[in-house]
Amino acid sequence: MTKKTVAVIGAGVMGCDLALDLSGHGYPVILKDLTPDILTRAEKTIRRNYKFFTLMKKGIFSSGVEDLLARVTFVTDYKGFDRVDMVIENITEDLDSKAKVYRELGAVCRDNVIYGVNTSCLSITRVASFLPRPENVIGLHFLNPVPLKPLVEVIRGWHTSEKTLEEAKTFLKNLGKTWVEARDFPGFATNRVLMLTINECAWVVQDGVAEARDVDRIFKEGFGHRMGPLATADLIGLDTVLRSLRVLQESYGDPKYRPCPLLVKLVDAGCLGKKSGRGFFCYEGS
Ligand code: NAD
Repeated sequence: MTKKTVAVIGAGVMGCDLALDLSGHGYPVILKDLTPDILTRAEKTIRRNYKFFTLMKKGIFSSGVEDLLARVTFVTDYKGFDRVDMVIENITEDLDSKAKVYRELGAVCRDNVIYGVNTSCLSITRVASFLPRPENVIGLHFLNPVPLKPLVEVIRGWHTSEKTLEEAKTFLKNLGKTWVEARDFPGFATNRVLMLTINECAWVVQDGVAEARDVDRIFKEGFGHRMGPLATADLIGLDTVLRSLRVLQESYGDPKYRPCPLLVKLVDAGCLGKKSGRGFFCYEGS
């Protein structure tokens, strides 16, 4: 069966892995970001991650990386968007940037396109308000790293139609994913808890209660988690964690989400986690 083309917007941490997972499942992908340099970097990331995921899980991809990349078209404009059936948007966690992109999408995409919003914390209803057909918008919160994580958090916005929900579920099934449905409240179920946990761990490190390595050991060796919260934060990207906490703080008006100053300092210093080579832990040379 010929798979329909999926447009992926944002070729960062999530966009690259989504493009890889989608092309690995036979979908033609249009991957869009702002500049050719970012796209060149994205292609390198896809190649590197293909190797990494293959090492982690033998047979995860049915064909070689060249075959997969042959299904991915890299663009900085909206070329080809008039024939896609599905858009998955993964740009920076910033409402104004997302608003601009969705207004542009509304002008170039067909009326029946489904929009999957891959946001950590932003309201799906709010994002949908930037499009002429909010009923076609649904939250598809993929987890990181996408090819290794079967679960997706699915969020219906105020206007999301039954048809959009059903089509999104069929799409996820074809991608080998399972899902949990959550209601449209900032951070949904996952990040309302996870971001708070990460932030509190950062306070624990800042206050000198325990070192980052030991905080994560407690969760791994003590609680049986596969990964500690601070390594998870590094994997997500500390800039994305900080943006998410600010969305939660503003949305709920609750000081419990106020970002820990150590987290702010790390982001100011350019220590964004795995993607920059350093965060709570060091990845240089890895
Ligand atoms: P990232 O910073 O790694 O990548 C974002 C990309 O979007 C960058 O390459 C940037 O150049 C691009 N971008 C920004 N504005 C754009 C525009 N107008 N048009 C096209 N591209 C644009 O971020 P990420 O970690 O991939 O996160 C992307 C989204 O996914 C965010 O909303 C985030 O909250 C969400 N998310 C992240 C994770 C995670 O673990 N990192 C998990 C689930 C969801």
